Amino acid sequence: MTSGSVDFDTWYDVYLKAYRDPSVLPSLSCPNCGSKSLNLVFQSFRRDDGRGIRVFWCGSCMFGLAPNRVILPDNAEVTLFDEFVVPDFVVIDRHPA
Ligand SMILES: [Zn+2]
Repeated sequence: MTSGSVDFDTWYDVYLKAYRDPSVLPSLSCPNCGSKSLNLVFQSFRRDDGRGIRVFWCGSCMFGLAPNRVILPDNAEVTLFDEFVVPDFVVIDRHPA
């Protein structure tokens, strides 16, 4: 494992906590750098679509999970696709080289 590449499972665990209850996001520490700068954005074509893309990354070290399709949680704050550009962060690979 190279520095800066915490494993995927650790990231996914933190992501799931934020997915289940986005209100805890500010209290979660980045698995990579420890900063409480994690961001979780749900993008969709419509605010009432119920499905979309999740974008989860750390605004401090700029690592994160690959954007992926999800069912949006009930309390998700939906961002429309034309309202947000996915930042250029380093994707944590499920199977790091
Ligand atoms: Zn970080």
